[in-house]
Amino acid sequence: MHSISKRLSILFIMCTIAAILLVTLFVNITVTNKFNQYMVDLQNKRYQRIVTYLEDVYKREGKWTKDTGIELMHEAYMGNYCLTLLDQNKKPVWGMDPNDIRIQLNKDAMPVQDKGVYTTKSFDIKVKSKIVGYVDIGQYSSILMTEEDVNFKDSINKSIVISGALTLLIISGFSLYFSKQFSNPISEVARMSVNLSKGNFESKTSIKSNIIELKDLQESVNVLAGKLKYQDTLRKRLVSDISHEIRTPLNVLQNNLEAMIDGVYPVTIEKLHYLNEEVIRFGKLINNLNILKEFEAESTKLKYETIYLDEFIAEICNDFYLDADKKSIKVDLTIQSNHMYLISGDKDQLKQVFINLFSNVLKFTEQGGRMQVKLYEKVKNIVVEVSDNGIGIKQEDLPFIFERLYRGDMSRHQIEGNGIGLTIVKNILQLHNASIDVESKEGKGTKFTIHFPKNEIS
Ligand code: ADP
Repeated sequence: MHSISKRLSILFIMCTIAAILLVTLFVNITVTNKFNQYMVDLQNKRYQRIVTYLEDVYKREGKWTKDTGIELMHEAYMGNYCLTLLDQNKKPVWGMDPNDIRIQLNKDAMPVQDKGVYTTKSFDIKVKSKIVGYVDIGQYSSILMTEEDVNFKDSINKSIVISGALTLLIISGFSLYFSKQFSNPISEVARMSVNLSKGNFESKTSIKSNIIELKDLQESVNVLAGKLKYQDTLRKRLVSDISHEIRTPLNVLQNNLEAMIDGVYPVTIEKLHYLNEEVIRFGKLINNLNILKEFEAESTKLKYETIYLDEFIAEICNDFYLDADKKSIKVDLTIQSNHMYLISGDKDQLKQVFINLFSNVLKFTEQGGRMQVKLYEKVKNIVVEVSDNGIGIKQEDLPFIFERLYRGDMSRHQIEGNGIGLTIVKNILQLHNASIDVESKEGKGTKFTIHFPKNEIS
């Protein structure tokens, strides 16, 4: 098993080595070929020069003597080749001994395979298109190189190898750096998922990646951690809420009934009524939970019909004026004019939505308070706002108020309810493709905003 960074580094380095080997090989072959070609051209020019020189000498002297062109011998000796001058009958005029140059040859430096094998080439010496003699040029290699030539070729090869090694070094550094850019965020996410699986929802990835996919991955894991943390808080809260909601009426019943059995409390009609109310309240809670279960299982079938939201809300507000009046709460209904507030929905269910919201306003707004209901149109939505200047909701409670059995601390102890109303509201609205948002400030008031999708015909 390897880490990602190790794997990536190995991959990078292997690719680099392969590329460098290929480039080195290619450059080396090309340079050697071109260089050899250049040397062959040089050699051919030299042959030509020797022949022309001898032709000129013959033209001048008109015959071959022991000294004709003998000065070429020195250059030939220095250049590691052997010259033999022959007359037109192929009889040697003068010649060099191949053994003289053999000793000074640096055979290892020769680039060709036939090094060390003595071969000669014969060239005609012509004057006025007539062959007057021959010159044999012999050498121990098909391509002759001076020490400088060999050094030049060596230094080119050395630079190719050095630049290859340097490239490898640089690429290795880069590959380590870049593979870390991949592996660090991934191992961070892996570490975080292990933490999440252990129930440590607080962990967050901190390493910032500028690779889009990795950044997305990190962000989604962070969001996942947030959601898991939220669900965990919710689960703990739900257990305590359920036990609270069920325990309280049961305790009241048990204590009262025990007191009656022990004869501490007299069994009166009022007492029995009171206990019955507790049983009814308990029954309501179970009923609401049942309704919720059906919504969540999506087994509730909605009866869709066209609803004129302005008339519909006005009617529900009418039913509330009396209750609001009892608590001296002012109800304001503002409907933006010149619009058709047409939606498609289930009247009974939507009525439940507004009843729940309005009842909450009455519950959580002090005497003399105000409830405002606004209806207006936005580009693609019909918007309903229900706001009050009541007790408001604590910031830490806000994210949870739509959850089952969630009740703000204040309402939990002082105000009747069971924390299911808003969960039902949200579920009904979701079935209508509508959304609900809440804004609230403790002590200042609360505003619920519902966005209904506009009906196509409206
Ligand atoms: P219930 O009203 O039965 O407690 P809900 O689900 O209707 O349950 O509301 C959940 C919680 O949201 C309430 O307990 C309360 O803390 C808070 N809440 C809802 N509406 C308002 C409001 N208009 N003003 C202040 N708090 C509210």
